[in-house]
Amino acid sequence: PSRFAATPRGPEDAILGITVAYNNDTNPKKINLGVGAYRDDAGLPVVLEAVRQAEHNVLQRGLDMEYLPVAGSHTFVQRAIWLAYGDRIIHERHNRFAALQTLSGTGACRMAGELLTRFLDYGQRTTKPLVLLPNPSWANHKPIFTDAGCDVASYAYYNPATRALDIDACLSSLHDAPNGSVVLLHACAHNPTGVDPTPEQWAAISNVVMDKGHLPLFDMAYQGFTSGDMDVDAASVRLFADDGHRILLAQSFSKNFGLYGQRVGCLSVMTDSQNEADAINSQLKIIARPMYSNPPIAGVRLVEEILNCDQLQRLWRDEMKGMARRIMSMRSMLRDELVQLGSQHNWDHIVHQHGMFCFSGLTEHQVQQLRERFSVYLTANGRISMAGVTSENVPYLANAIHEVTR
Ligand code: PMP
Repeated sequence: PSRFAATPRGPEDAILGITVAYNNDTNPKKINLGVGAYRDDAGLPVVLEAVRQAEHNVLQRGLDMEYLPVAGSHTFVQRAIWLAYGDRIIHERHNRFAALQTLSGTGACRMAGELLTRFLDYGQRTTKPLVLLPNPSWANHKPIFTDAGCDVASYAYYNPATRALDIDACLSSLHDAPNGSVVLLHACAHNPTGVDPTPEQWAAISNVVMDKGHLPLFDMAYQGFTSGDMDVDAASVRLFADDGHRILLAQSFSKNFGLYGQRVGCLSVMTDSQNEADAINSQLKIIARPMYSNPPIAGVRLVEEILNCDQLQRLWRDEMKGMARRIMSMRSMLRDELVQLGSQHNWDHIVHQHGMFCFSGLTEHQVQQLRERFSVYLTANGRISMAGVTSENVPYLANAIHEVTR
């Protein structure tokens, strides 16, 4: 008999389960608003033109497929942290970053967790590191940091009554947390709520994080999706850098380069000195080596190709802006349709929230109704992936939402 015969069956991943149900639905009008992946106005997956051209260029070069170093491509890593921090900060502190290429944003978060468990306050800590997540946060954050050996708790963030940030509650829960906690912050385009702090609110968050000796850990999975501009969307991280924080930064290039399956990401650690950066780099490699030896090569080559060529970089930035703009226009259309249908509810939060997601405020029951009566699929918490909305399906979607919220 199999030695695994007693293995209990685990629960299905909530988001991936939605796609399975959607695929089995035969209604031609069905809409999948579950998965956080960009779609064009025909509802189709997108490969950016800049990526296509980069792919062509890379192919032309006839490169080998040897292993990357354990820490990945040095060129890619340098370009990645430059995208986040910009010229000035990189120039000021170029030798103080420890960083490595990761298996996208998920891998970057996981490496951050592994580093925290092993080396945060090295030699002085007697308990697990405590990572504070916004309430709510990306559903994978808790398992990532728990599996990496951290304790996980949450801080106040979203207020369902206003469908916006509860800044006072947020600041006071960060204040009440144990000194020296690790605070996970979504750099922009918060998942799942679409609610980002204003610049003033970021400044207040930075102050309390500093006062309490907390360590900021930025998860930046959607740089570009809030404003359409990579630099504008990095303002939170840059503000924290200018305020004198040491920063852990997990970057994903899944969404803004459309490289989902290529697994392109970066974890960086801003330190106090070149010595400290060298020590952390050595340990990051020791953590990575027994897990996967070295990261994949194909995706980073495309990012490097784009960022090393002015013309391709301009094209990519334009296309990134185009994705953000299309989502913004879908937000307006959805809100306007609901108003026109005579909905008695206020739907302004659809346009006020940012990035790929809208935290609609729909109840679990309403979400279920959408699915059963209209073949519209979203997560039970009412999160709508705006990237799945198109100018063709928005009237149907608005009507469905109107019907279940009457
Ligand atoms: N962080 C957040 C907040 C996310 O939403 C995602 C993607 N859903 C990720 C990290 C990581 O995605 P990936 O591993 O594809 O880069």
